[in-house]
Amino acid sequence: PKLTKEEEEDQIRRFKALEDDDTSELRKVSRQVYLQKRRDQKLVELRDEIIDHDYIFEGVKLTEAEERELRYKKKIYELASEHLEDVDNINEYRMPEAYDHEGGVNQERRFAAAMLRYRDAGAGDKMDPFAEQEEWENYQSGKANLKYGSKDKKQASADYQYVFEDGVDFIKESIMDGVNYKDEMPSEDPDDSIAKTALHKLKEERKTLPIYPYREQLLQAVQDHQVLVIVGETGSGKTTQIPQYLHEAGYTKRGQVGCTQPRRVAAMSVAARVSQEMGVKLGHEVGYSIRFEDCTSEKTIMKYMTDGMLLREFLSEPDLASYSVIMVDEAHERTLSTDILFGLVKDISRFRKDLKLLISSATLDAEKFSDYFDSAPIFKIPGRRYPVEIHFTTAPEADYIDAAIVTVLQIHVTQPPGDILVFLTGQEEIETIDEILKHRTRGLGTKIAELIICPIYANLPTELQAKIFEPTPEGARKVVLATNIAETSLTIDGIKYVVDPGFCKIKSFNPRTGMESLLVNPISKASAMQRAGRSGRTGPGKCFRLYTAYNFQNDLDDNAVPEIQRTNLANVVLTLKSLGINDLVNFDFMDPPPSEALLKALEQLYALNALNSRGELTKTGRRMAEFPLDPMLSKMIVASEKYKCSEEVYNSWKETNYSTQWCYENYIQVRSMKRARDIRDQLEGLLERVEIEPTSNLSDLDAVKKAITSGFFHHSAKLQKTGAYKTVKNPQTVYIHPSSGLAEVLPRWVIYHELVLTTKEYMRQVIELKPEWLIEIAPHFYQMKD
Ligand code: ADP
Ligand code: MG
Repeated sequence: PKLTKEEEEDQIRRFKALEDDDTSELRKVSRQVYLQKRRDQKLVELRDEIIDHDYIFEGVKLTEAEERELRYKKKIYELASEHLEDVDNINEYRMPEAYDHEGGVNQERRFAAAMLRYRDAGAGDKMDPFAEQEEWENYQSGKANLKYGSKDKKQASADYQYVFEDGVDFIKESIMDGVNYKDEMPSEDPDDSIAKTALHKLKEERKTLPIYPYREQLLQAVQDHQVLVIVGETGSGKTTQIPQYLHEAGYTKRGQVGCTQPRRVAAMSVAARVSQEMGVKLGHEVGYSIRFEDCTSEKTIMKYMTDGMLLREFLSEPDLASYSVIMVDEAHERTLSTDILFGLVKDISRFRKDLKLLISSATLDAEKFSDYFDSAPIFKIPGRRYPVEIHFTTAPEADYIDAAIVTVLQIHVTQPPGDILVFLTGQEEIETIDEILKHRTRGLGTKIAELIICPIYANLPTELQAKIFEPTPEGARKVVLATNIAETSLTIDGIKYVVDPGFCKIKSFNPRTGMESLLVNPISKASAMQRAGRSGRTGPGKCFRLYTAYNFQNDLDDNAVPEIQRTNLANVVLTLKSLGINDLVNFDFMDPPPSEALLKALEQLYALNALNSRGELTKTGRRMAEFPLDPMLSKMIVASEKYKCSEEVYNSWKETNYSTQWCYENYIQVRSMKRARDIRDQLEGLLERVEIEPTSNLSDLDAVKKAITSGFFHHSAKLQKTGAYKTVKNPQTVYIHPSSGLAEVLPRWVIYHELVLTTKEYMRQVIELKPEWLIEIAPHFYQMKD
């Protein structure tokens, strides 16, 4: 429904009022939006902060050594004085078991505290290097005192509290019990002195995994039952070992062993690991297949792939004849593709009695899987985990990015060695925190231990992904900034501390408006427990939750809602239809999607001309199903045939022979273009398959726009007097994203690729549109009233 300006203002007022009322459901929504806004603002501020800084001391002649010293001190000072506005509110700074010895880090912290006192005494913002020098000297003599037996330890420790004024306060709330952690590790090879080859070492390592003692039992169970549900703590060896065991037991003689992963990075990295363990080249016996990247060959007998890719394989091989075993891994994630796979593999297993089906999960609620698969037996792998201390903040944190940074630094300077794992919501956040951490620790030189920062997220270039698995050098500390991928899909050894802000990005779909959005949301209790568990893999661990125990108890849901219940189903419906599954209402879903969402999807596909009025797949629809893309995108590509423009994607880059220089000149990331080339090559192959000839039509840019419109006519918007836009279907006020070239032009009509909700509802990737095209291209959708 359209809101008048008054109504809109009223709504904002009500939302604000609701902020204080903790009973209402709406409060959650407004808080979400609020957090997202804060986050966006913060990202901008923090970037500016990094750019603005310089460490030049003007007008003072210093020797090089002095200058270095000063830079260093200034750095410490900055570290200490950031977020000074909160200083009054802090009455206690406490880290569990902060080690309080005289050496190293603590002295620097004392110095930082001294600098703060100096600043508080009214010296003001501008640093006088000579006054500072004095302070430094006092500090140095104080250091000497401390070294030779300090009388006043209490005073010294009271100083710490000023080091990070907005230091996050934690209290230890509970302990997650260790599981079998006293188990004897398999004894080391007796002739340890003989230098082992890397391969040999890996072979040895395989025997130390919790799953290893259960190898025979597991293989027996697979032999005895067609479907087996396997449950085991993350890191026990399910993903990397089970396919190898099956191979060793001969299952790959009858066909491939396929193992699905919900995430691209996991599929790639696990395949890489397994190929190492087996001493074969990645892509030969062991390979992976993810969207736009197929790293397999004729030789491949063990194949890791995303669940979405296996789904697509059903199109060409509906009985999965080339597989002897399918392992649906990380089943607890309940991604859309996994849920659909459940229905399909369950169906095949009825007529392919030789196909073994393994459903593996990291959480203990396996009964549901077992029930769904006709009471399949559950094989539990006793995990091994050390106890984990769980710390909550004493008060809610308004800004989890800030809090995460401060907590990492706190851990770094106060806690014994051990790597840190921070859970963040996405690439942008990870990159920002990466920069800030580098910025804050740069220049500290050797005075504090080195902090090695390793990001990991889905789009991280493959060559950088391996970095997170490299062992941390002696004396350094690694901090892994990860998305949800490190929750269960990837195990990084050596992690002792987990920082959990309690958020993740979740896709949600509004079937009424047909709009999908990706929003930062609180995680579930189950996720929080998984995250905490990551710290206890190789020794007792600690988890720092950046929310209160009250939040945990009252604000977090027990389990995440399966994706199938909060997504646009158009893609699924198209895939299922092309598999000949017409009766979607009676499809055997583990948790059926809302019928409203199903209807919406059918409606959209009909509008795109992919289905006819009887709900059957059209020729266009069949062609669209070949592309691993959102239906709107695939329609656009299929429509490019009609408008003879399937070649324009990036021809000007091609003309320069893929030059890097051209990218610089046009301010385009080389990496993005290279990726575009790879994706294009694949799509071109698919065009061939659906018999669309690549054609080009350079003179007519409108043709390209029309092709886009054929796919995206749902996404049209009209300019309003205010400079805002109103979407044509389900009127909603939206804006052109400031990053768009059209943000200044404001054409009367536009088509957008997607809507993102940040500070406003923005349209991203926009093109100009002539309104008459809507009637030409989608007359059934836009009946014009005037
Ligand atoms: P699960 O699937 O049960 O969570 P995995 O099979 O993924 O366990 O991992 C088992 C062990 O293999 C991990 O604890 C880790 O030590 C090691 N491992 C897995 N992947 C990698 C990798 N890419 N690099 C290095 N070690 C890895
Ligand atoms: Mg796994």
